[in-house]
Amino acid sequence: MIGVTENLALIKDLLAFLAVEAEREPGAVKLLAVSKKHPVSMVLAAAKAGQRDFGENFVQEGLAKIDQTRGENLIWHFIGHLQANKTRVVAENFDWVHTIDQLKTARRLSEQRPEALGPLNICLQINVDGEGSKSGISPDALPDLAASVAELPRLALRGLMCLPIARLDFEAQREPFARLRKMAESLRDHGLVTDTLSMGMSGDFRAAIYEGSTIVRIGTALFGPRQ
Ligand SMILES: *Cc1c(COP(=O)(O)O)cnc(C)c1O
Repeated sequence: MIGVTENLALIKDLLAFLAVEAEREPGAVKLLAVSKKHPVSMVLAAAKAGQRDFGENFVQEGLAKIDQTRGENLIWHFIGHLQANKTRVVAENFDWVHTIDQLKTARRLSEQRPEALGPLNICLQINVDGEGSKSGISPDALPDLAASVAELPRLALRGLMCLPIARLDFEAQREPFARLRKMAESLRDHGLVTDTLSMGMSGDFRAAIYEGSTIVRIGTALFGPRQ
């Protein structure tokens, strides 16, 4: 069986290759290692091989891994749905939240972010396919939410995130990512500085990189299937 160290090296090479293929800088795309439902031993193996950024979907599981890796200087990203009653521990322990879709949640995170930690990095999640069941705001609501979040003192608005419906074909995969990129460009035209597009997972990261992704969130291709 191929291990985490080998997978990590292959994926990092591939991200650099794809960035160049898409006429971007080889270091333009950051790998976020999604460790949800994998043991902390895998996080430590990836950290030993040089991986710094890790993503978790569930608060308690993420906190346990953060506690068990204190000495490693890792950067923790919360990428799951955030309930209002869980904001405090997230504000106190994570470095990024990718899934903000309500001003109320953002306000709480800003109020609860400890001064000593520096601002919490935020991406706004867009429901790019208009799915009724899914988290994320509609594109229409984005300009107002972005303007409000940008003013919260203990948050740093970094950009946008999406989780499109799975599409098999490369061109079809590009389409929602292209729309997210254009939404970020439009925010920039309105004077909001954003530098992050959090898009692309194991099955569609090539398409996301072609459309300007700066953070790909990869679980399965790095750590194998989840339990
Ligand atoms: C689980 C998850 C990922 C990783 O998905 P893989 O297909 O395993 O790479 C990325 N982003 C989010 C929001 C997730 O929930």
